[in-house]
Amino acid sequence: MSEQDKVYPVNPDLAAKAWIDQARYEQMYQQSIDDPEGFWGEQGKRLDWFKPYNKVKHTSYDPHNVDIRWFEDGTLNAAYNCLDRHLAERGDEVAIIWEGDDPNEDRKITYRELHREVCQFANGLKKLGAKKGDVITLYMPMVPEAAVAMLACARIGAVHSVVFGGFSPDAIGSRIVNSNSNIVITSDEGLRGGKRIPLKENVDEALANPEVKTVEKVIVLKRTGGDIDWHDHRDVWYHDAIAGVSDECPAEEMNAEDPLFILYTSGSTGAPKGLKHTTGGYLVYAAMTHQYVFDYKPGEVYWCTADVGWITGHSYIVYGPLANGATTLMFEGVPSYPTSGRMGEVCDKHQVSILYTAPTAVRALMAQGEHVMDSSKRDSLRILGSVGEPINPEAWEWFHRVIGNGRCPIVDTWWQTETGGILIAPLPGAIAQKPGSATLPFFGVQPALVDNEGHILEGATEGNLVLLDSWPGQGRSIWGDHDRFVQTYFSTYKGMYFTGDGCRRDDDGYYWITGRVDDVLNVSGHRMGTAEIESAMVAHPAVAEAAVVGFPHDIKGQGIYVYVILADGYEPEEDLQKELVKWVRKEIGPIASPDLVQFTPGLPKTRSGKIMRRILRKIAANETDGLGDTSTLADPSVVDELIDQRLNR
Ligand code: ATP
Ligand code: MG
Repeated sequence: MSEQDKVYPVNPDLAAKAWIDQARYEQMYQQSIDDPEGFWGEQGKRLDWFKPYNKVKHTSYDPHNVDIRWFEDGTLNAAYNCLDRHLAERGDEVAIIWEGDDPNEDRKITYRELHREVCQFANGLKKLGAKKGDVITLYMPMVPEAAVAMLACARIGAVHSVVFGGFSPDAIGSRIVNSNSNIVITSDEGLRGGKRIPLKENVDEALANPEVKTVEKVIVLKRTGGDIDWHDHRDVWYHDAIAGVSDECPAEEMNAEDPLFILYTSGSTGAPKGLKHTTGGYLVYAAMTHQYVFDYKPGEVYWCTADVGWITGHSYIVYGPLANGATTLMFEGVPSYPTSGRMGEVCDKHQVSILYTAPTAVRALMAQGEHVMDSSKRDSLRILGSVGEPINPEAWEWFHRVIGNGRCPIVDTWWQTETGGILIAPLPGAIAQKPGSATLPFFGVQPALVDNEGHILEGATEGNLVLLDSWPGQGRSIWGDHDRFVQTYFSTYKGMYFTGDGCRRDDDGYYWITGRVDDVLNVSGHRMGTAEIESAMVAHPAVAEAAVVGFPHDIKGQGIYVYVILADGYEPEEDLQKELVKWVRKEIGPIASPDLVQFTPGLPKTRSGKIMRRILRKIAANETDGLGDTSTLADPSVVDELIDQRLNR
């Protein structure tokens, strides 16, 4: 495909000032593979350790004994590394810029202030009975207190489990039960896009379920002052928990392999898994990738638009940036409120240098036309980032040309909740970009492509994406279910970590994620990823967004079913359906030509904005009963409309 052959070379001026240029990337990558002990032993020193480690790497992918440990005899504290150690040098620099849902509300918090707030709340937690090893559930809006609560847990050695503030009472309840959590931290209400989200009410409902038995205290932050129910024996105001409490709190000495947090995966593919991440390796990896992938320089304002409820928020709003002493922007609202130009306006207001967002946000802006960016200049931007899904080349180009004014490299970062940090991405001073490709591996990361029998494939080819060896940020287990961890990731291909993603490698060794392996189509014996067909669809001016799934087809085995959201100004007409089919034939080839094209105003998405193809597959197969777990859908009502208008019946 012509679009995919486009190369955006590294800007030499940027390379000259970057942490990592091409020569350094190659040299460091080689060293990281030849001598992981030496390489990571050196990198581990970017943190402050109470007791330095002597052992660096102890990892086994043997399915009979999956065992992953990094820096295992060292001790440290994550909150200490994100706060205390910065105080002498940059205590009065801004740690968190908070931008409210309402553009007139914002707040700047220095490292010294954040340190004080974290210590005080940590003492508040202790006063309520929290102790090392407890699992504390956070169900919070995007306010600084969410970061404060995470760091306060880390400070006292409690394990946080952040549940995204858009999830239902059922989802909260099942995560509390799964993790045996004894304390919940929430807020009266959240604010998003001008709407109030009943967080406390959802917690009340979750805890009313008799199966949810472990919670002793619910700490409630007053955000909106809205009406809520109160349970005297259980509920405590956040401000009461810290009233009159000391703001000195020593950081608990934790082993590198003590758990830092549990995080449940987004739920695109089924029952959520509670990934266990530990302290030392995770923090080394989050800090290092934040510095190098975004080429972060001291003093820059960095904005990741994710929610702290996702791994992206953990690693690249809170832990990575704060471990590096960065200024991290935290946004309470949604990119389209109160105006569709809000994202650009926030960049101008806070002079953002680095903007890290998701393809779904870019496509939403793109569908409205370039004028949505007229309300901002965005000339402070230096680097753009993308995460969550393959970014279609068309959306990549728009992101680059319109949002980044054609000046900023885009780091397309491929990684997972399970990986803790970014694994494949173009370091902006080192690696030329190709729109739609996550490009090359980060230090220490050894991707490989295997066929269905697990044979490693060489050269330019396509296959299942696996990782051959561990990196420090890797999740260590599934909470309370190590067998499921082994089963899910280490049993398909012996001795390898299986990502679940399909991938293509080109002649330059660049990796192109083609979608989840479960979503791969097999049309008349040809295997095709969903990403390629979707990208071709989105390249047509009438298409704002597309989702492709297979459905049972008598002759071809599988037929191609495409769901299309039209761009502004286009009508759902039969002629357009035909034109789109022709378009894909021309762009990819006759084998990829869609059998059915359904126009729809919306697609079923997870709360983090990913298309749930599992549901679309069922509808395309005309199996509309038993759609499975839909509790993590952002808007379940789109499903009814899709069923109503389905084409294969
Ligand atoms: P679940 O595992 O519960 O189904 P999920 O996989 O959506 O949910 P995450 O860990 O948030 O949960 O997402 C990781 C997945 O997102 C990757 O495996 C990949 O499929 C996709 N992904 C993330 N970043 C990229 C990217 N830059 N390019 C292509 N795909 C990406
Ligand atoms: Mg996944």
